[in-house]
Amino acid sequence: MKVLVINCGSSSLKYQILDMTGEALLAKGLVERIGIEGSALTHEKTGLDDKFKLITPMESHKEAIGHVIDALLDKEHGVISSMRDIGAVGHRVVHAGEKYASSVPINDSVISALEECVELAPLHNPPNLLGIRACSELMPETPMVAVFDTAFHQTMPQEAYIYALPYRYYEKYKVRRYGFHGTSHKYVAERASVMLGVHLNDLKIITCHLGNGASVTAIKRGRCVDTSMGFTPLEGLVMGTRSGDLDPAIVSFIRDKEGIHLHDVIDVLNKESGVLGISGVSSDFRDLEAAVEEGNERASLAIKVFAHKVRFYIGAYIAEMNGVDAIVFTAGLGENSARMRSVICSELGNLGIKLDLVKNNVRGKETIISRDDSKVAILLIPTNEELMIARDTYRLTR
Ligand code: ADP
Repeated sequence: MKVLVINCGSSSLKYQILDMTGEALLAKGLVERIGIEGSALTHEKTGLDDKFKLITPMESHKEAIGHVIDALLDKEHGVISSMRDIGAVGHRVVHAGEKYASSVPINDSVISALEECVELAPLHNPPNLLGIRACSELMPETPMVAVFDTAFHQTMPQEAYIYALPYRYYEKYKVRRYGFHGTSHKYVAERASVMLGVHLNDLKIITCHLGNGASVTAIKRGRCVDTSMGFTPLEGLVMGTRSGDLDPAIVSFIRDKEGIHLHDVIDVLNKESGVLGISGVSSDFRDLEAAVEEGNERASLAIKVFAHKVRFYIGAYIAEMNGVDAIVFTAGLGENSARMRSVICSELGNLGIKLDLVKNNVRGKETIISRDDSKVAILLIPTNEELMIARDTYRLTR
C-alpha cells in the first residue's frame, strides 16, 4: 500500500509518498509560497537525478495539493498511475490538546476536535486543517489519519505538566505543558532501543531534538515523562529565533520600555530571539560556527548559551528519571554538528557520560558516538517523522 504524508504549513506544504511494503520512499517534495506571488513546487522522485520544478500561481492549499497529485501522476517523475494507488493519507497535525494520546483515523468528530484546538495552536492547526479539508475534497474515498506532535507527551505525569498558576486556568482554559516534536522523540527513542538491543521498557532515554526549533524529552520505559516545550513551542531550550525559558516579568518590562504591544513582545520572543538575538548574526548554526571561526564573540556566546540550556535539561532529566541509559541527538543541528554535541557532552564524565571525539566526527547517520567505557550510550539518530506518520497511517487504515 502507498501512503502519502502531508505536512501543511501556512504558506508551504511538504509531502512524501512511501510504499509501505519495505517502507521505501518513492518521492518527496515541497510547495512553497502558497497564496503568495511566486508559488513553486519542487518534486523529487527517488532514483532520478533531476528534480521536477513547477512555478505557477497556487492560491490555496487545495490547488497546491492538486499540483502535488499531478506530479505524482507525471509520466516521467510520477510514482503512481492513478489516484486510487494512494491507499491512505497521513497528516501531520501539531496540536491535539488533551484529546488524543495517539494517532487517529480522521472523521468529522476528529476535525471538530482539531478546530477546538485552534486557539491552542493558532499558527499551526489552521494550515493543518486546510490540508485535511483539501485532501478530503480531492480524494474523498481515500482514508486519512492525523498524527499529532503533542500525542507522545500525553503520558507525562501531572507534576510535569501543571504550571504553578491558579489551577482554574488549567480547568477553564487547559493551560498546561503539552510538548511538541513528539513524533520525532518517539521515533528516535524506538531506534535507540533497536540500536542498543535493549527493550524500551528497560531504558531511560533523553532525546535531544536540536533543529531550528529544539526540545529535550525524558523517556522512561518508552513513555514520555517530561519535555522542555510547554503550552507553546516557545518554552524550553534556546532555539534559532525563540528565547526559550525566561522570567515572565521580562515581557511587561520590555513592553513598557519599548512602548510596544504585548503581542509584539511575544513576536520578538518567537522571531528575533534565541541564538539570532544573542549573536546578531544568524539563527543558523552553520553561520554561527563560521562566525566563531572569524573570532565573533557574540556568536560564540550564543553557542555557549544554547549548549548550557541543553546541559541544564539533561541534568534535570537525569534527576527526574533517577539515571539515564542513553542520550540521543537528532534534527538538523543534533545530526550535523559534531562541535555542538561535543560542547554539550563535555565534562559529564562523573555522570557516566563520555563522548568519543573520534566517533563523534560524523554527520547524519545512525551511530553510537560514546566511548566504550561510557556508562551512558550517546547516539546520533537522524529523525524521520514522515516515516512515523506513514507507519501510523498504514497501521490504522490497512
Ligand atoms: P526545523 O525542521 O526545525 O526547521 P532542522 O531540523 O531542519 O530544523 O534543523 C535546521 C537547523 O540545523 C539549521 O538552522 C542549522 O542551524 C542546523 N544545521 C543543519 N546542518 C548543519 C551543519 N552542517 N552544521 C551545523 N548546524 C547545522
